[in-house]
Amino acid sequence: MNKYRDYDNYTKEYPNEEGYFGKYGGAFMDDPELVKAFQEYADGYNTIAQSSQFISELRRIRKDFQGRPTPTYHCQRLSNLLGMTQIYVKREDLNHTGAHKLNHCMGEGLLAKYMGKKKLIAETGAGQHGVALATAAAYFGMECDIYMGEVDIAKQAPNVARMKLLGARVIPVSFGAKTLKEAVDAAFNAYAEEYRDAIYCIGTAAGPHPFPLMVRDFQSVVGQEARAQFIEQTGHLPDKVMAAVGGGSNAIGTFIPFIADPVELIGVEPGGRGAGYGENAASITYGREGVMHGFNSYMLADEDGAPAAVYSNASGLDYPSVGPEHAMLRDQGRVNYVTVSDEEAIEALVMLSKYEGIIPAIESSHALAHAIKLAREVGKPESILVTLSGRGDKDLDYVLENYGEKFNI
Ligand SMILES: *Cc1c(COP(=O)(O)O)cnc(C)c1O
Repeated sequence: MNKYRDYDNYTKEYPNEEGYFGKYGGAFMDDPELVKAFQEYADGYNTIAQSSQFISELRRIRKDFQGRPTPTYHCQRLSNLLGMTQIYVKREDLNHTGAHKLNHCMGEGLLAKYMGKKKLIAETGAGQHGVALATAAAYFGMECDIYMGEVDIAKQAPNVARMKLLGARVIPVSFGAKTLKEAVDAAFNAYAEEYRDAIYCIGTAAGPHPFPLMVRDFQSVVGQEARAQFIEQTGHLPDKVMAAVGGGSNAIGTFIPFIADPVELIGVEPGGRGAGYGENAASITYGREGVMHGFNSYMLADEDGAPAAVYSNASGLDYPSVGPEHAMLRDQGRVNYVTVSDEEAIEALVMLSKYEGIIPAIESSHALAHAIKLAREVGKPESILVTLSGRGDKDLDYVLENYGEKFNI
């Protein structure tokens, strides 16, 4: 059921002024300096980002620097192979740097410039967000401090090299487990100290207000372009629209422009190796309500409420919570959330490569895998639009090593 009749009304209603999507979202912070910093951030976003000057500068950056609009492409060979369903992909793999993350990093960088800041701060796990943000910092001529766990630094040498080449400082985090969680803490601490000169840039549509709102708005370019391109090519709306959900940024940016349309929206979560504890990162499917990293949403937690161990073969999807707007849309039944396993995702990656000449990221392959599954099941002509959030070059070694034999590559 679709209770929304109008896209503009929806975005005016959600989130409310305190950053709530129904009961989800908000801004939960102990440090009074951080409360001040986020208030300034929200005020800056609400005033500056609505100005026509900001909007036209961001539009120019997207066109001249990022190479937007990215195409929407009809996968005819793949569709014919599967049956009657027509699969279309929105090609965020062709966005500069090879994924959708740059969409919100350029927006955050431009906001920093208008707010008079000189530095961008963030953490990174696998390094994808760090590279996108370092790219934005280079473009705007700003300093960039990326906090990264020592364990991740050792694992992600190519992305560390990219960040350094782009002029960022990669700051090793050497306490606790020395991975993403500790890097988040270190980056927040740095922000609390430096917020007069710096802004913190989140990597997904999660975190305290205003991040879920801001990232949703910056990523909505994906759904807006795809909706117009799809209608131009086919003369109608797609029956179904799907995207992979980690923290939820490419999915929310894809979905919201379709919110008032008679279109089924499907978020695809990483099912990993199965339903057991620590075997997946499907926060909506297997999680429950709770506050983590400063916002209320669905989360995967262990018995005492701490973030659970999560797993997926897509490093960009293994986050134990999810953006609060997704939590609300799930409760309302407006978006359906499903899971896809590690292996189903790899099968989709191999098929798109072989039949269409496009090598997608393992993250994006989760969304495509669900489309392939439906195309095999549904014996009727319908159309599915899938957001391909990024390209798979970063995943090739891993895929060959772990799945080469099974998929005969
Ligand atoms: C980071 C990443 C994701 C997951 O992030 P969302 O915020 O859920 O979109 C998906 N695909 C790619 C290619 C990524 O780099």
